[in-house]
Amino acid sequence: MYDLKIKNAKIVDGTGLKPFHGDIAVIDDIIVERGKNLGLAKECYDAEGLVLCPGFIDVHTHYDAQITWDATASPSLDLGVTTAIIGNCGFTIAPCKPEHRELNIKNLTKVEGMPYNTLKKGIDWNYESYHEYLSLLESKNLALNICSYIGHSALRIWAMGEEAMQREARDDEIIEMEKIVSNAMRSGAIGFATSTFEGHNGTNGIPMPSRFASREEISRLIKAMAIDGRGIFMLTKSNNTEIKDIIKLLGNVDRPAMVAALLDNPMKKSWAYNVLEDITKAQNKGYEIWGQVSCRPLTMEFTMNEPYMLEGLLAWRDYMIQNTVEDRKNILKNQKFRKAVLNEILDTTKNKLFVGNWEKIKLINTKRTSLLKHLGMNLVEIANFYNKEPFDWLLDNAINDGFDDLFAAELLNSDNKQVQKLLKHKYASIALSDAGAHTSLLCDAGYAIELLSKWTRELKVFSLEEAVYNLTGKQADICRIPKRGRLVPGYFADMILLDPNKISTSAAYRKDDLPAKSDRLIVDSVGIKEIWVNGVNKNKNTAGKLIREYLS
Ligand SMILES: [Zn+2]
Repeated sequence: MYDLKIKNAKIVDGTGLKPFHGDIAVIDDIIVERGKNLGLAKECYDAEGLVLCPGFIDVHTHYDAQITWDATASPSLDLGVTTAIIGNCGFTIAPCKPEHRELNIKNLTKVEGMPYNTLKKGIDWNYESYHEYLSLLESKNLALNICSYIGHSALRIWAMGEEAMQREARDDEIIEMEKIVSNAMRSGAIGFATSTFEGHNGTNGIPMPSRFASREEISRLIKAMAIDGRGIFMLTKSNNTEIKDIIKLLGNVDRPAMVAALLDNPMKKSWAYNVLEDITKAQNKGYEIWGQVSCRPLTMEFTMNEPYMLEGLLAWRDYMIQNTVEDRKNILKNQKFRKAVLNEILDTTKNKLFVGNWEKIKLINTKRTSLLKHLGMNLVEIANFYNKEPFDWLLDNAINDGFDDLFAAELLNSDNKQVQKLLKHKYASIALSDAGAHTSLLCDAGYAIELLSKWTRELKVFSLEEAVYNLTGKQADICRIPKRGRLVPGYFADMILLDPNKISTSAAYRKDDLPAKSDRLIVDSVGIKEIWVNGVNKNKNTAGKLIREYLS
């Protein structure tokens, strides 16, 4: 007698092979049989007309903090993600000494847009070392499976204190970090993650700690990661880092590298694709490198209090270091400052988040009656109305008490033709949900559903089996996650039952359910009937696992 049987399903098994009609049987947390007319089970679902596929593996999330107060990683599990990888870009909250908690919180508030009061109230700090952090997660009754990187920025703060955001590390500090990375791997980290990306700034706009690291430091930490011949090197790369530089960082370490974030940039059309082509060349030479791409346009909601899209600009730093509203207004009035920022925005030699396409920014909310008539209009339209340049209007508006006006910017990755080329690339890893981060700016946690709805059902860019493979089996292979991502006997029963004609997400909406009542953007799934994690229906019980063992 089986514990669970799903019968009459169209099974898309995560291997990329053609779907077939049949049953899947589970005992405990393992798939034990698949075929037609399988025997009796304690629990049975008739899945006629529905698709059964593996749960999605979201390789780029930032649930490090949230998972300590919300073991369901909301909303990801409800959107079909049964395994999430945390610690991307190196922005972990472990290891962390008590005296560094405040700095880590302030950095996360800035770099990942997590509300300060939420982190202050929400994080369970019942750990110091990385090992203790993993044990804490294990004690949390996780509702989905979690894999965790050891993160470079938290590691530097542990070893160097505040100087982590001022300078390169000394040899003795690197030695200490090497030990922690190796120990973290032995405790069950999936790999080592870091960022050299210009847009990654911490408290007061100071670059995140990992951005102060020398190449030697990063190389030595990759080596420390690979101590037992395991581990994924995850890098969110600087605009100036090329694939050949990553090969140099890897040196003679024969481990896979995951590179983020390859988004289509309307002003630099072939940039992301060219990186993938460089990755192909590296793969052909034996270096296993993967490029993280996204199937969603990068849309961010922002106010001029914290315009994330400008925060990667060197010239914008002068704004970020101001403490009072008056000081902020003064710097915004400064014509030299305006000119420097605008020049940097319009400099097309660099790949940036925002490249001056003002028509892609819309006013979506304001409390000021004088502005109501412009709701829904883009910056070019509004600026024309006042006979101004868009950038000048945006800053003038902030100065005139418009700091809280809410804008939405469609920044990158919105050209379907270009994005399709990225998604279909052999060495692309479809990811970049950033789930758990930028909670009030965006919600891309439903990216996997969008691959199945928009890109598969509507645009027919993928067959269903190909799309599912990209979200499941392929990710498990890249990340060396054992026995997940495929519906085959011997594998863990992480499964989703869905209606292929209905699967989609709701429009994003706001909900103030974070600790300290901060609000966030959230989406719901449509067309997902059931979700099982390790053989257990998510509505009945929590059965997620902290994954600590990986393939080499
Ligand atoms: Zn990230």
